[in-house]
Amino acid sequence: MAGFDVPNHLALDRTGRVYSEPGRAAVVGNYDGDPDRAGALLVFRSEELSYDRRDVTAVKRILAERFAGMGWELPAVLKALEEADDVYFDAIAQIHVDRLVKGRVVLLGDAGYGATMGGMGTGVAIVGAYVLAGELALAGGDFRVAFAEYESRIRDFAKGCQKISGNAGPFFAPPTERRIRSRDRMYRLLASRPLARFFKRMTEKAATDIKLREYPF
Ligand SMILES: Cc1cc2nc3c(=O)[nH]c(=O)nc-3n(C[C@H](O)[C@H](O)[C@H](O)COP(=O)(O)OP(=O)(O)OC[C@H]3O[C@@H](n4cnc5c(N)ncnc54)[C@H](O)[C@@H]3O)c2cc1C
Repeated sequence: MAGFDVPNHLALDRTGRVYSEPGRAAVVGNYDGDPDRAGALLVFRSEELSYDRRDVTAVKRILAERFAGMGWELPAVLKALEEADDVYFDAIAQIHVDRLVKGRVVLLGDAGYGATMGGMGTGVAIVGAYVLAGELALAGGDFRVAFAEYESRIRDFAKGCQKISGNAGPFFAPPTERRIRSRDRMYRLLASRPLARFFKRMTEKAATDIKLREYPF
């Protein structure tokens, strides 16, 4: 997936549009009400790519090739890509490790349980930082005790949050027309009143599924 700024030529105001073709999608959204700027998100299904992530020209070339011939606003988005100086490009991937702790090394946030886009990575990272700092304070700086407590307190919570964000790629870039239509139908349903409440409860359950301790600071 790639993200970069584009001019707000669709005059969007705190809303976004998704356009999908089999295996690729473009999102243009305005999230802060700035009348001039919008963000573009390009997502495509792919085998693992080999490229130099520091070579912005190569990254732009990959994107231009993958999105060539696509309809909707893509010609304007690809034009903006040529000028963009803020291109983010990476695979949609999650981090799953067996242990968060080894000796004096402890994994926190994305390093230990990155959930990727469409999820709660920021919240989980902040909760993880709170628990780790709190356990260190509680253990008087004994990192062995603190790391073990941190790991056992955060592991299941982080796993639960990863579970609800594991679908970002297939959501944005279904492989066939039929899957695009069924995605649209499903999300129309989920946005309907009774189901929207259920959807929200499901997210809140994962986000709050941890009992936080009060720490001495
Ligand atoms: C496209 C996209 C959309 C997302 N959308 C959402 C969302 O809507 N909601 C959500 O909750 N989460 C979202 N996330 C996930 C969220 O961004 C991460 O889960 C969160 O930023 C993790 O925080 P972190 O502190 O663990 O890692 P990071 O935010 O990655 O921070 C790590 C920092 O370490 C720095 N660093 C790396 N190596 C070194 C080094 N050797 N020395 C010094 N510094 C170094 C990096 O520059 C970086 O600043 C999204 C992620 C992506 C990629």
